[in-house]
Amino acid sequence: MKTTLFDDAMRRLNTAMKYTDLDDEVALRVGTPKSCLEVSVPVRRDDGSLDFFRGYRVRHDDTRGPTKGGLRYHPSVSLDEVKSLAFWMTFKCAVVGIPYGGAKGGISVDAKSLSPMELERLSRGFIRLVADFIGPDVDIPAPDMYTNERIMGWMMDEYSTIRRQHVPAVITGKPVSMGGSVGRSDATGRGAYYCIRELAKKHDLDPASTTVAIQGFGNAGQHVARLLHKDGYRIVAISDSQGAIYRPEGFDIPSLIRTKEETRHVQAVYCDGALCTSIDADTLTNEELLELDVDILVPAALENQITEENAERIKAKYIVEVANGPITSAADEILNANEIEVVPDILANAGGVTVSYFEWLQNRSGEYWELQTVHKKLQTIMSREFKRIYDLHLEIKTDMRTAAYVHAIKRIGETMEAKGTCSYFSKSK
Ligand code: NAD
Repeated sequence: MKTTLFDDAMRRLNTAMKYTDLDDEVALRVGTPKSCLEVSVPVRRDDGSLDFFRGYRVRHDDTRGPTKGGLRYHPSVSLDEVKSLAFWMTFKCAVVGIPYGGAKGGISVDAKSLSPMELERLSRGFIRLVADFIGPDVDIPAPDMYTNERIMGWMMDEYSTIRRQHVPAVITGKPVSMGGSVGRSDATGRGAYYCIRELAKKHDLDPASTTVAIQGFGNAGQHVARLLHKDGYRIVAISDSQGAIYRPEGFDIPSLIRTKEETRHVQAVYCDGALCTSIDADTLTNEELLELDVDILVPAALENQITEENAERIKAKYIVEVANGPITSAADEILNANEIEVVPDILANAGGVTVSYFEWLQNRSGEYWELQTVHKKLQTIMSREFKRIYDLHLEIKTDMRTAAYVHAIKRIGETMEAKGTCSYFSKSK
């Protein structure tokens, strides 16, 4: 039977609970979303016709603070998917210790089929329907797949119109000119990069002799590649949805990024100074990229890429999950048995939500930070939580994913216990 993202998440929660002495009620409460809203958004098309699009917002858990999570526009968006992703956000926020619970939302739509004006009507229409469900102290959306800073700007503007006041903190990932934070656009890639730096310290990895393969060359993948390349790591394979390229000597990442921007494809180009020449690079499939014999594999594209089908063939020593859920729980068992160390998504890609938190703080105080301040604060959080989870995985003799879940559930559970659980109330009878 095919396991869903939610099944995987629940399995990981139940495993983590075994490493704590938290009341069972904690797992019960975290296993159930707090509230789910389903809406139908009417959109007047450019030709005058009317269409409806199904939208969702799920607030999973607000034990530690207002809920936080992205909004995605994709035809596959469903209530079940949004619930699973909201659950994940609860753990991600707890892993990095920011005072939020998890949420997620989305609209079932092929965003590419809409004109810019239809997209604006859809985004503003969605906010009109969910305005009573969100708010800077309640639930704070952010961009996700096929949504971007312009859409976040429209949404903040619509919410402010409804409330008759300027409310920038209702949404993060806005354009900097509308209250967005500097350093937000590369925050996910940068957060993963800080994790890799910590991983390298733990294992004495020398960048020049460390090979890296990156699946996915979008926002997150490109920034990890750029930062690692700057430190001298050898990025030997890169892919996008069209396929992968491989060059054992390593690629010049800035020129690949330029080529991708100009042609929308990754092509094999090598630049030395201003001189760029096409070079021989082997072409691989995305499946072959995952199975390369490299030191670090970075899945930065889609979920469910490493499954029980291919896990046995993975040769990388370390995997840093920049994508959400690229490894299934069945594959985890095989990778653990083969001693492949995985830096889990709820830690490795938490840089984005962390800088979203910084944006919210800046919006609330009205004081805006320099780029260096954002980088420094992000590095402090990512490095600190990486080390805590790394030490915990050694202490409780488990893999880093389980340790990350244990770390998160302890934070969530302590807050729940402070409010009182069965073990407290039954004793006070
Ligand atoms: P993106 O849309 O900018 O890039 C996705 C990349 O994956 C593109 O290069 C695309 O060509 C490639 N791709 C698509 N299908 C592929 C396939 N079958 N094989 C290989 N590559 C494929 O998305 P992104 O923002 O970079 O997000 C990537 C992953 O990181 C997603 O799982 C996302 O949920 C996760 N993530 C992103 C952020 C963020 O702030 N951007 C935050 C947390 C998690």
